[in-house]
Amino acid sequence: MIDVFLVTLLYLLLITGIYFSKKKIDSKDNRLYKIIIISSIVGITIDICQTLLIKNYAPSLVIHSFNKLFLVYINFWTWMFTKYVLNVNGDEKNLNKKMDIISNVFLIIFIFLSLILPIDYYYDGVSKMYSFGPATVITYVSGTVFCFIMSISMLLNYKKVDANNRKKYFPVIIFLLLTFGEVIVQYSHPELTLISPLEAFITILTYFFIENPDVKMIEQLNIARDQADKANSAKSEFLSSMSHEIRTPLNAIVGFSQALSEEELPFQAKEEVKDIMMASETLLDIVNGILDISKIEANKLEIVNTEYSFKQIFDELVSLSKARLGEKPLDFRFNMDESLPKYYYGDKVRVKQVILNLLTNAIKYTKEGWIDFKVNGVNKGGVCRLIISVEDSGIGIKPESIDKLFSKFERLDIEKNNTIEGTGLGLAITKKLIDLMGGKIVVQSVYGQGSKFTIALDQKIVTNPSENLERTQSLDLSALKKIDLTNKRILVVDDNKVNLKVASRLLQDYHCFVDTLDSGQACIDKITMGASYDLILMDDMMPKMSGVETFHNLQNIDGFDTPVIALTANAISGMKEKYLSEGFNDYLSKPIDKMELNRVLNKFLG
Ligand code: ADP
Repeated sequence: MIDVFLVTLLYLLLITGIYFSKKKIDSKDNRLYKIIIISSIVGITIDICQTLLIKNYAPSLVIHSFNKLFLVYINFWTWMFTKYVLNVNGDEKNLNKKMDIISNVFLIIFIFLSLILPIDYYYDGVSKMYSFGPATVITYVSGTVFCFIMSISMLLNYKKVDANNRKKYFPVIIFLLLTFGEVIVQYSHPELTLISPLEAFITILTYFFIENPDVKMIEQLNIARDQADKANSAKSEFLSSMSHEIRTPLNAIVGFSQALSEEELPFQAKEEVKDIMMASETLLDIVNGILDISKIEANKLEIVNTEYSFKQIFDELVSLSKARLGEKPLDFRFNMDESLPKYYYGDKVRVKQVILNLLTNAIKYTKEGWIDFKVNGVNKGGVCRLIISVEDSGIGIKPESIDKLFSKFERLDIEKNNTIEGTGLGLAITKKLIDLMGGKIVVQSVYGQGSKFTIALDQKIVTNPSENLERTQSLDLSALKKIDLTNKRILVVDDNKVNLKVASRLLQDYHCFVDTLDSGQACIDKITMGASYDLILMDDMMPKMSGVETFHNLQNIDGFDTPVIALTANAISGMKEKYLSEGFNDYLSKPIDKMELNRVLNKFLG
């Protein structure tokens, strides 16, 4: 037996050395395990001493003391291991806490009883010796009670512990099985002292399955990563719902100021309305920027490719830039290679967004002089490599600042730029979007003289565009007349009263009859009762019944064939495609843009 004890002690010392020399996380598990490992060494040492002393001193007071000490050790180790198992199962659970307290009480009772109750010995005068009697029986009872507590705790927590963590139960199950086996062996061979090697074995097993500091560190890192991911997605969700909430009142500001700007107003009032429109446009840009950044961080920003008309994008970009120039003394020059293909397959919203950002920056950071906007390309095997450049004669960028240009919230030359509005998000988003679309962006700049941003972007060429695409291509937004819609009936459905007022106000200029309803159900009821309209504008994000659900219910009504336009403040790229695939006839994002509204009215009622 002495050989078994010595080998076990050697293993235990080895594991203990490795365990204590490694960096560990300070946790309750670790603290309990440290006590378990040390008490295992104590247990096996007591056994070695007993075996060595047996010949000279048996049976004597020394042996008697060692026996009592050994019983205390068994009670202590099993109690410690029970506490450890309860803790691994999660100590915040109330039931585990109660069981923990119960096991503490049991330990005191068992140690007290095993110390005061008598103990008897059998000794054959050579080497065979074992103890029996009430103190020994109490130790068996204590082992059974603690094993029972462990089993109950494991059974109750088994479902709550995720599959990856169930391997932690392995040493416990082995312990329960071996203890059971040990009791049977001990019954027929009471002289075999198997308890301390068994407990040492479980201590070693626990090291490999649970307590190896490297494994624990990786586990903790995984937990920390999961928590960070959760916090990050909660933040992104918060930002996206906040920006949605902000867009709703902004819709009222933009809508009413657009409507007011067309009224006959005193000069001062007209100027102030213009300022409101500009400020709300800036606010909308910021909200959209934050939404994009939160999507980029959550890896949720998607590129939605569709067929699009190239000319239409650039016409819109030029007219938007000219509007943003305002009264700045800048010569805006636009030059596009006319031989470029007309239609492409790509994310038109994002292509437009990145170029518009470069143009807006050029306008913002150039006081006087010129802006050169050039579009060229090279065709190769069904793909066109577009080379788009925006050059300005503005303030320029210091060479040492170029690296920071594409970092979020990074604004350069603050002393010089403090009168220019901006968040430092635009170029970070631009760079990310270009990367996602597989393109490249380069910057050349001479501080004090100007900058040139060049984008290289591959876009698939579309040779046979759909009919719809060709039709929209021929619609020049700015040239669309405000048509007269007298006798036309338009229904607007939105749960928000202010949004209904904005839409009615914008439609008022077309002299049509405008009806408003504040829920999907009200809309279905009205159409079912026979009301008919020439066009329906339907908000999607409504409580109880969403716009999409309402639309599908409307389609089930016999004879319903009114065009329905989806309205939403959730202006993520790809929304238009989502609504078109649901069957909507078109899509308008909130705040409703006057030109876009005009386009839709021309398309369906013109
Ligand atoms: P914002 O314009 O909102 O500050 P951007 O990310 O678009 O944010 O730009 C980051 C910074 O890069 C700007 O603050 C500005 O200092 C600098 N920058 C961008 N474009 C130009 C430009 N055309 N000329 C000079 N500086 C520029």
